[in-house]
Amino acid sequence: MLKIGSHVSFSGKGLLNAANEAAAYGSSTFMIYTGAPQNTRRKSVDELYIPEGKEVMAENGINEIVVHAPYIINLGSFKDQTYRLAVDFLQEEVRRTHKIGVKNIVLHPGAFTEKDVDYGIARIAEGLNEVLEGTKETDVNIALETMAGKGTEIGRSFEELARIINLVEANDRLTVCMDTCHIHDAGYDIVNGVDGVLKKFDDIVGLDRIAVVHVNDSKNPLGSGKDRHAVIGSGMIGYQGIAGVVGHELLKDKPFILETPWIGKSASTERPMYEAEIALLRRDADERFGGEFMEDVERLHHFFDKEDVHPRLYVMNSWEQLKAADAKTKKADPREPMERLYDMLIENRVLTEDYSEEAVNQRLLAWLAGKEWLASL
Ligand SMILES: [Zn+2]
Repeated sequence: MLKIGSHVSFSGKGLLNAANEAAAYGSSTFMIYTGAPQNTRRKSVDELYIPEGKEVMAENGINEIVVHAPYIINLGSFKDQTYRLAVDFLQEEVRRTHKIGVKNIVLHPGAFTEKDVDYGIARIAEGLNEVLEGTKETDVNIALETMAGKGTEIGRSFEELARIINLVEANDRLTVCMDTCHIHDAGYDIVNGVDGVLKKFDDIVGLDRIAVVHVNDSKNPLGSGKDRHAVIGSGMIGYQGIAGVVGHELLKDKPFILETPWIGKSASTERPMYEAEIALLRRDADERFGGEFMEDVERLHHFFDKEDVHPRLYVMNSWEQLKAADAKTKKADPREPMERLYDMLIENRVLTEDYSEEAVNQRLLAWLAGKEWLASL
């Protein structure tokens, strides 16, 4: 069965909280940060409701989950204090991951800041050697994430990841987290050539290293080097591009983790789209949302056809217009494609007024998945 879920909150009752949230979205896996990603404050492991969380996981058929290391960790830093903190804290996080019973901790390799790529790669490898050596008693793997290439971050190419792996002694404990938004932004065309991208990855790093896939659409074009995640289908990768990765034979059985933004007209109505994204990618939206959901999606197709609005073309053109717009035009109307489409539906009263903003957006996402998606059910 497809293992798919999202990033969920580990606050409050720790694993219990995370497992309940994941179950509410219909997830079959999930990802947590062991504490706030931007600081090093952590609760002790016995306050994390681990047995209780595992019980909820078992009830929901969730067995494999993933931890993400905090992004304050920079193993590529030339500053001794930053590097030291990164090594020490990553070791603690690996031990914590082990105690929670998780096999992979995802790590952003690091950034070289004022130095250069070669310096950064050597420094990261040195740090990983120390962390792996210091956590030998665990069987936790560190999953290096493929990065978009913004700023001086390392991991923008498969070659950079391979160079790090080759410099690490205990590299049998190094795996990879492939992020769809990041590789797209780094220039790997998964929309038109996912087979070629995976072949390239296999030649340079090896597909057996992939332990996790982060599933995110992108607000930017191929090769932009940006890293801004979009809800599935509302970005420049598109539903079909993402589905081509999630359903790929060579990635079967990997955990697929959504890290897409929450959306809503205001901070108080913002909701994650995970439940709909999971159902769309698993192709069980009909059972999940039931009743009128599919009829509503057909209604959206009918309405937008009449308006001559095609999902993929509309999304691509809107992003391009937003990028090209001068500051004044953008300020006058900064709405992203999803919000523009939402407003059209509301103005034209296409759906019943009883629906919450979230319910409308869920139907919109299914429309964005396109007629091919509908036909494939
Ligand atoms: Zn990440």
